[in-house]
Amino acid sequence: MKKVSFDEASGKHIHIMALGVTLLVFLMLVSIAGEAPFADIQNSGSNNVSNFNKFDKAINSYEKTIELNPHDSLTRYNRACAYSPINKMDVIEVQILSINDFHGQLELPSSQIPMGRNNKTGAFIYSNSGGAEYLATYINRLKSENPNTFVVSAGDSIGASPLISAYFHDEPTIKALNIMGLEFSAVGNHELDKGLEELIRIQNGGCHPKDGCLGNSSFEGANFHFLAANIVNESTNATVFPAYNVTYVQGVLIGFIGVALRDTPAIVRPSGVKGLKFLDEAETINKYVRKLKGMGVKTIVVLIHDGGSQSADGLYNESLNMSGPILDVVKLTDHAVDVFITGHTHKVYNVLIDGSIVTEAYAQGNVLTDIDLVISNETHAVIEKRARNIVVSRGIPKYSGVAKLVKEYKCLVAPTADKVIGNITGKYYSGT
Ligand SMILES: [Zn+2]
Repeated sequence: MKKVSFDEASGKHIHIMALGVTLLVFLMLVSIAGEAPFADIQNSGSNNVSNFNKFDKAINSYEKTIELNPHDSLTRYNRACAYSPINKMDVIEVQILSINDFHGQLELPSSQIPMGRNNKTGAFIYSNSGGAEYLATYINRLKSENPNTFVVSAGDSIGASPLISAYFHDEPTIKALNIMGLEFSAVGNHELDKGLEELIRIQNGGCHPKDGCLGNSSFEGANFHFLAANIVNESTNATVFPAYNVTYVQGVLIGFIGVALRDTPAIVRPSGVKGLKFLDEAETINKYVRKLKGMGVKTIVVLIHDGGSQSADGLYNESLNMSGPILDVVKLTDHAVDVFITGHTHKVYNVLIDGSIVTEAYAQGNVLTDIDLVISNETHAVIEKRARNIVVSRGIPKYSGVAKLVKEYKCLVAPTADKVIGNITGKYYSGT
């Protein structure tokens, strides 16, 4: 697969820089391909090797260009990934693997989710699930089935996290998500627990301003992009993270729009959202859908840190009596959105509303959503879509890269985790 992607730049200063980079890339592509970037590739519709060579050269130059400034822009133009030539078939299959509300759950979560119903009584049958090292195995297995895969999150990957992650300012979680190949994430309310500046450090890397470098290795930042179309600087109205990303997959454009919870300021400490304004979710989505449509994007996925819930007797691939704010968002949004990957409510559901797939995958890595989009090579429209929630069971091998990382941080945090901070001498009642 050849994936080339670009984000919207954010902020005036970055805009100018991004424009410069874009122009440079454009000129390179023009000089190499002799015509508008990607045009020959997109329209060739055949396995034209010379086109690919040109394309490849252009991409290499593109990568070199961005490497000059890998950390000075929130946009950090995405790297090009490995690819296979445009297929000759009539359709392109794109797979999207999504999580939400991971909350730094590197170790095994204690929560259990219902796996099914007892045939006779109808009562839920529960099972253990989750654990970053198992989640990574699922992701990698599914990825190996389709090279056109995107791994994404609907936000709250960090914040409200256990000691193993929180003690290191959630750096280990970002490292784990990098290993899992996460590409795009909405900005959840908890991502702003420590404020915008800290989230920018999480994006770009570098040591913590107060606590310095933690752990055994440097912190390179997130390899994935935070996207937030509705978080703007309150004085300039410019987005503080890119609003969207558009990626070419085998000549077809796929757009991802990131959306934060509109009510974030009501639930995050004022210092966390200082200077920021949160815009209406549906209005913002519609604004960017118009923009993406104008760019020729016909496959649009929204990553939104807002959600809903189904009634308590619903299972992980059901959607019984759906309720919650996401329903209004979907209803008020342009039908061009193919998929809403939702979060925040820590619920699980899988539903089709007005032709759009709407999913949530519980929380803490217990569930992974697998969405398949079948896109016409001719019209570039989505002609078939399906989604399934998969419970991350522990009956599979651990993914070694993540298992190693978890072990390392478990060791590092042990002296703190085991420290006795006090003794209770009387009776102690814990609240609910
Ligand atoms: Zn959450």
